[in-house]
Amino acid sequence: MAGVIISEVRKSYGQVEVMHGVNVDIADGEFVVLVGPSGCGKSTLLRMTAGLESITGGTIQIGDKVVNNIPPKDRDIAMVFQSYALYPHKTVAENMVFALKLQKQPADVIKTRLQNATEILDLQPYLDRYPRQLSGGQRQRVAMGRAIVRDPQVFLFDEPLSNLDAKLRVQMRKEIKELHQRLKTTTLFVTHDQVEAMTMADKIVVMQSGWVEQIGTPLELYDNPQNTFVATFIGSPSMNLIKGTYSGSKNAFVGLDGTEQPLPLSPAAEDGQPILLGIRPEHLTLSDKGLEATISVVEPTGSETMVFLRHGNEEIVAVFHERQDFAPGQTIHLSPRAETIHLFDQQTGERLAEE
Ligand code: ADP
Ligand code: MG
Repeated sequence: MAGVIISEVRKSYGQVEVMHGVNVDIADGEFVVLVGPSGCGKSTLLRMTAGLESITGGTIQIGDKVVNNIPPKDRDIAMVFQSYALYPHKTVAENMVFALKLQKQPADVIKTRLQNATEILDLQPYLDRYPRQLSGGQRQRVAMGRAIVRDPQVFLFDEPLSNLDAKLRVQMRKEIKELHQRLKTTTLFVTHDQVEAMTMADKIVVMQSGWVEQIGTPLELYDNPQNTFVATFIGSPSMNLIKGTYSGSKNAFVGLDGTEQPLPLSPAAEDGQPILLGIRPEHLTLSDKGLEATISVVEPTGSETMVFLRHGNEEIVAVFHERQDFAPGQTIHLSPRAETIHLFDQQTGERLAEE
């Protein structure tokens, strides 16, 4: 096994730079998820790691080898794509061992590895079928089987669950996680779905427009987002960002309507500085003294109630785990739990450090 070190990596297509010096360290055996909106450069970075795309600047190291100029087949990686990319005229078993045959592995090695992967993925009943005779989830499992038989140093996944329906996605994400707990193969997994990232990753890399915004464990990103992009990208529904100013004398956030929210710690901000109060929907509670908001829509889902509200010109979302008897048009007062407050500079969107 081996770790991966991505160092100051840049990518240009013609004159256009789409990746601006990306650094990511993946420890041996770690499961790292690259997440970000469509077009931010996830696939490009994965394909550069795989060797399917040239690297314009910087280095990518797998184990102790810089692989910039090493062809894909010699990088000891296995990639799983969103489209599965199975050979339609080969059976499941043939699909799974094809790469091993190309490598001219001995027959007994091929047999053992196929058996092993078949067992891990429960594919026994399907070995003689063709891809068209399989469901989407089964095809995805074959694509994974094809990666497993190669026993690579690194697994690379590019949105492998995006073509599955919601229920199957949840199941497959658990299976991939279980698989990783069992095989402990270094994994770089790409998705645009923050829930997938949060549930699967040891470490998440949040990207935007060819830049890394933040790297951390799922809970580090949830608890300490470094800017408003990460704050609103991680967590569902998104964090509320309420406009106001900082009052130094009161050490409080003062909303546009004049509501004051005392702060538990003092932020590195000037008196009167325009700031944003970040508060997650699940951290708002009903309280007479809180900010005033009018309910526009109530969505009860059984386990929780999601409420959309208007606070002046701003929209706020709150989530309650207790049942609530709310009606549209009703005015309520909400307070953030003090220890769950996030503060950002309005201009830069950067998190305000604590003094
Ligand atoms: P993601 O996988 O995060 O959706 P990509 O890595 O596919 O994003 O793309 C990142 C950026 O690079 C996008 O702006 C995209 O338009 C651009 N890009 C990707 N492939 C090419 C290409 N072959 N030629 C020119 N631009 C490309
Ligand atoms: Mg992509």
